[in-house]
Amino acid sequence: MAARTIVVGAGVLGLSVAERLAARGDLVTLVDRGEPGGGTSRTSFGWLNANSKVPRAYHQLNVEAVAAYRRLAGDPVVAPWLHLNGRIQWADEPADIDEMDVTVDAMRVWDYPVESISPDAARRLEPDLLIPHGAEVRFWPTEGFVVPQGLVDWLRRRANSQGVGLSIGSAVAGFSIEGARVRGVALDRGAHLAADRVVVCVGRWTEEVLALAGVHVPMQPATRGSPALGLLGYSALVPTRLARTISGPTLNVRPDTSTGRYVLQGIGLDHLAEPDTPPDPDGDAGRELLARARHVLSGFEGARLAELRVGYRAVPADRITVAGWAPGVDDLYVLATHSGFTLALHLGDLVAGEIVDGMAEPSLADFRPSRFGAPVPAGVEARAIH
Ligand SMILES: Cc1cc2nc3c(=O)[nH]c(=O)nc-3n(C[C@H](O)[C@H](O)[C@H](O)COP(=O)(O)OP(=O)(O)OC[C@H]3O[C@@H](n4cnc5c(N)ncnc54)[C@H](O)[C@@H]3O)c2cc1C
Repeated sequence: MAARTIVVGAGVLGLSVAERLAARGDLVTLVDRGEPGGGTSRTSFGWLNANSKVPRAYHQLNVEAVAAYRRLAGDPVVAPWLHLNGRIQWADEPADIDEMDVTVDAMRVWDYPVESISPDAARRLEPDLLIPHGAEVRFWPTEGFVVPQGLVDWLRRRANSQGVGLSIGSAVAGFSIEGARVRGVALDRGAHLAADRVVVCVGRWTEEVLALAGVHVPMQPATRGSPALGLLGYSALVPTRLARTISGPTLNVRPDTSTGRYVLQGIGLDHLAEPDTPPDPDGDAGRELLARARHVLSGFEGARLAELRVGYRAVPADRITVAGWAPGVDDLYVLATHSGFTLALHLGDLVAGEIVDGMAEPSLADFRPSRFGAPVPAGVEARAIH
């Protein structure tokens, strides 16, 4: 008989896991208190990469994840939201060049593809790019981006066609646990859903939802100045041509191909994000993003920001993906990670495989939630989070 599986959380990860589980024969119900894709997945840069991601096992997971997208990339009809056309990065101040090349050298040691190209070659790829003549330019050919809403919609359609049932509008408020086994979830409106297993994919809410089952997976708090908070600007229409992601010393930009807008992420501006306070696109942070964009792209003169959003990254306390059976409660699986757009398709496959086949996936061995049985080690190295 097919296993009845509840997936809690219909962000990009829950949608992917639900779809893959149903494809393997589970009877899946996907539960979300809001609309699918309405959590962190609504506010994401969508850059697909394994760049600067440490330790090695996490880097490798991301490399495999981008390769999973490459299998779809040849078909613009199937995946019009997918763009694996590389990323251009440049720097012109000596300190910025040194910083860029520390990463370049580290990534080369791990055979992660990167090329040095001239500013003219970069301008041939992206004619509206205003790279200074003396700049050093690196091209990361395997990287790319997704339009987040496009991937969410695609996964939702696929999940639907695999027969995944969707329960939206009620939050999971508890777990029913018999002996040491999870046997369903309780919803805040009083309903109870029975299941043979439950997969928790609730992103930044992971710590509080798992606490309902007595399981401890600490997450970075979404307080001002925390690496969990991020600001993204969405431009109004501008007459700029840009096909790929570009990264200068102060700004990342990618096209939002479904709308003709651009998504702007300022380096070092995330500390201006206030939790639970919608930012004013015409305020300081918005004006600074536009000034930086004008500096690197022609066509942005006179441009406005249509929207400025605060995003809440789903970052486990030690910043590394959490994927595996919850310690102490049988049949309860947890998946939480930053870089969820890069990892979504690949993790969906790996996680569904582990759950249905009952075989531990070797590439997930370093990401088990049981590591939080002990306190988080002091002095976990600080790293940039994109
Ligand atoms: C500013 C920013 C930039 C980013 N840039 C990138 C990038 O360039 N590349 C990349 O790969 N990733 C990036 N990310 C990360 C990526 O967006 C996330 O990792 C991903 O969206 C997480 O998806 P998720 O499905 O885990 O969580 P979510 O999308 O948050 O989904 C979780 C769902 O759980 C539901 N939920 C919560 N609690 C309950 C409950 N009790 N009952 C029922 N439902 C519940 C919520 O309603 C929500 O829909 C970025 C994130 C931010 C904020």
